[in-house]
Amino acid sequence: MTEIIKEEETGKEAGLNFVEQEIVNDLAAGKNGGRLNTRFPPEPNGYLHIGHAKAFIMDFGAAEKFGGTCNLRFDDTNPQKEDTEYVEAIKEDIHWLGFDWGDRLYYASDYFPQLFDLAVRMIKEGKAYVDEQSSEEIARQKGTPTKPGENSPFRDRPVEENLDLFYRMNNGEFEEGSMVLRAKIDMASDNMHFRDPIMYRIIKTPHWRTGDKWKVYPMYDFAHGQSDYFEGVTHSICTLEFVPHRPLYEYFVKELADETYCPRQIEFNRLNLTYTVMSKRKLLQLVKEGLVNGWDDPRMPTLRGLRRRGYTPSSIKEFVNKIGYTKYEALNHIELLEHSVREDLNKTATRVSVIQNPVKLILTNYPEGQTETLYMENNPENPVEGQHGMPFSRELWIEREDFMENPPKKFFRMSPDKEVRLKGAYIIKCTGVKKNDNGEIEEIYATYDPETRSGLPGADRKVKGTLHWVSAPTAVDAEIRDYDRLFAVENPSAEEGDFRDLLNPDSLKIRENAKIEPWLAERINAGDNYQFVRLGYYVVDPDSTPEKPVFNKTIGLKDTWAKEMKK
Ligand code: ATP
Ligand code: MG
Repeated sequence: MTEIIKEEETGKEAGLNFVEQEIVNDLAAGKNGGRLNTRFPPEPNGYLHIGHAKAFIMDFGAAEKFGGTCNLRFDDTNPQKEDTEYVEAIKEDIHWLGFDWGDRLYYASDYFPQLFDLAVRMIKEGKAYVDEQSSEEIARQKGTPTKPGENSPFRDRPVEENLDLFYRMNNGEFEEGSMVLRAKIDMASDNMHFRDPIMYRIIKTPHWRTGDKWKVYPMYDFAHGQSDYFEGVTHSICTLEFVPHRPLYEYFVKELADETYCPRQIEFNRLNLTYTVMSKRKLLQLVKEGLVNGWDDPRMPTLRGLRRRGYTPSSIKEFVNKIGYTKYEALNHIELLEHSVREDLNKTATRVSVIQNPVKLILTNYPEGQTETLYMENNPENPVEGQHGMPFSRELWIEREDFMENPPKKFFRMSPDKEVRLKGAYIIKCTGVKKNDNGEIEEIYATYDPETRSGLPGADRKVKGTLHWVSAPTAVDAEIRDYDRLFAVENPSAEEGDFRDLLNPDSLKIRENAKIEPWLAERINAGDNYQFVRLGYYVVDPDSTPEKPVFNKTIGLKDTWAKEMKK
């Protein structure tokens, strides 16, 4: 991972990305009988993040695009780290992005019998042996890319002995770590993965699906290609770190495949995002140590985190489409992801009025007890969305930041003796303030000009500032969780030291007494997106109660991406 990609360099207009191009070529050449079958193979040891989304958008997307099928396969070959909790969550998250595997749901553990049989066959053919050395010893003998490895002293064990030991390994006769089954390939190979890779290790933890039936479990490299083969997968699309594994993938697959059908592996670049960590191990650590509030914390790059933050499926797909798929590692700007959700919500989110840091405004010449209803556009981007009514009265809430007693020159919001417009309502002029004993402003006083009601003839008198407001008697209290980036540095994975020291200490600000307009208070459904005018995009949080709506800030209105692109 070296450079930061600024351009939307690979989302070529209507063109195919290089993986799709390979698929099209294979189909045109009639490979595998013209079939296309991809798969998404998550290990159920954590929740899916946006990097996984990049992978499965490719897997399911290519199948959809070219008339193929896509399997969902849980890669559950390590009973020590896996859990059903993750299985259900993974399915839910894939569905959320609009993809479905139909009846093509598989588990690598379904293939344990066939994999075991293949291992036995390879032992019989002299292609595998049981090694009794410690893992340290095996690692030591492995050599380096420039120095060949050494053969294990157990490498030439007779077939019968290997067979006997392998069966006994699986019967639980030996301790974990005491022996492994290795492929007998080439300890001097240029490809380190060919230096007698481990096929099976002993694990005595029961498996969540197969119980204690097995005491030996296949390694990823011995399971993945064969699982693809057993399922009829034609294109096994994965990330670049598997490039050096590909020859081994092909080596094991060749034990099964013939010229009529053979799966192939194609690799693309992982998604890495600025200000984000994507490693499952680190994400788990953040959750376990309470550094975030769970896997669905709106600051997490997990799909459930993004969902709770207010990200939409289409914004995530659009982002992935923009960054594209390449053959070299990169780091993508989080601003582009933010830009994608902002663009999407701009089209769809209903505009409402909310004051997040309220101060009271009293219109001294507005009759006490009078209210009127003013109509606000639901979405100026989409006029068919119509309008909704908002009560207006003598006492209003406005943002504290919108008033300054001694403003600098370019302050066009409210200050003494200056006129501003209340959005969709009247022009007002500040006449004074009341302060408490600490000198803080408690109330602001103003007069309104009844001739200036928005929409009325002659109401278009120009004033510089327009403020949003909420009528005080009918306002409802709400909580706003104002999120910022989880990390304070651009590339936390590249920094030395403990990644937890790089967390942004101000990534969550809670505002307890925001004031929302009554129309919004009647529409509190978790997951609904809104634009709070002048503030940004917000989403209703599932913690909301009828007494206290809770909103998460998705993203502010200001697009830093467009600026970034011009640099
Ligand atoms: P682990 O270290 O646990 O293997 P993983 O992130 O690779 O972590 P898997 O469940 O094995 O998790 O991933 C499933 C698929 O998602 C794999 O094909 C993997 O290549 C892909 N994937 C994982 N992370 C990313 C990422 N950041 N960008 C794109 N694809 C990813
Ligand atoms: Mg993996």
